[in-house]
Amino acid sequence: MPSPIPIFDGHNDVLLRLFNKQSSRVEQLFLDGENDGQLDFPRAIRGGFAGGMFAIFVSSKDEIGDVNELMRGESYDIPLPGMLSAEAALPAALAMASILFRIERRSNGRFKICRNAKEIRSCLAADVMAAIMHIEGAEPIDAELNALDVLYQAGLRSIGPVWSRSNIFGHGVPFRFPSTPDTGPGLTELGKNLIRACNERRIVLDLSHLNAQGFWDVARLSDAPLIATHSNAHSVCPHARNLTDSQLAAIRDSGGMIGINFATCFLRPDGQVETKTGLDVLLRHLDHLIQHVGIECIGFGSDFDGAKVPDPIGDVSGLGNLRDALSSRGLSDAVLRKLCHENWINVLERTWGE
Ligand code: ZN
Repeated sequence: MPSPIPIFDGHNDVLLRLFNKQSSRVEQLFLDGENDGQLDFPRAIRGGFAGGMFAIFVSSKDEIGDVNELMRGESYDIPLPGMLSAEAALPAALAMASILFRIERRSNGRFKICRNAKEIRSCLAADVMAAIMHIEGAEPIDAELNALDVLYQAGLRSIGPVWSRSNIFGHGVPFRFPSTPDTGPGLTELGKNLIRACNERRIVLDLSHLNAQGFWDVARLSDAPLIATHSNAHSVCPHARNLTDSQLAAIRDSGGMIGINFATCFLRPDGQVETKTGLDVLLRHLDHLIQHVGIECIGFGSDFDGAKVPDPIGDVSGLGNLRDALSSRGLSDAVLRKLCHENWINVLERTWGE
């Protein structure tokens, strides 16, 4: 049997899941596999998951609870947590970066933190899992951006300026349904500095948790392709987290990218967290995106370990069912390769300026 087309993925939260275990040797749990969460090494191999963006995300769960549990009812609007200072966020961010380094170190060459597209391509060719260090919510970075330089040298290649909670760089989009993404002010002056600093260093700017104002602030300021690592089409699911057709057009015109998010609340037209969801709804987003941005600008952004995903996928080992659903749609292998990894690697290459 030919091996499956590898999937390079725009977003996962496994580092946070491992960090929350508050124990040492979590890197070994990841590498050996465990019956917990949605992503670990052995299940990733079974699912043909070739790597992706590994998010460092400092959570406010203690303050507001689990967002996935709170999104209930026909309509909802989850209160967002208060701001987190860099002093509070940086130690947790460093701990998650350290977990990523430890996974690489103990992997016997099976897992690599990649800093350019050439390294990602080599990893895919050699069956080595390729990880990109990403920060979701720039709270760990100080106003002077000193931490940005240090983290860049450590391997950071992608930043979402805000998760949904506000920070010194801007205001994010709430978990609100139904709602447009136009929910308030966007970037602050410090946020605009951060955009320029990321452009200068050619760090990816992830738009997924920005509100409409923030999105258009980045679109105006940034000279890089517009990338939303884990978002869906607002026309199919009117969640505030999803992208309107005019945002999709801007992404297309910039030569950017959208990673389709597997979270059922961003897939289903009723916005519900409900794992009893078929992949037909994911294909509806795909169809809409093909129409509005074209095949070249679409990939996947699973949100594994950060979201409730459809049962037919379940966890990373179930990616085969996604491939089957795509093939049954009549998509050729050449198109599948684009969706599964080539588009992601190409847009990262364009952004990083190799
Ligand atoms: Zn996210």
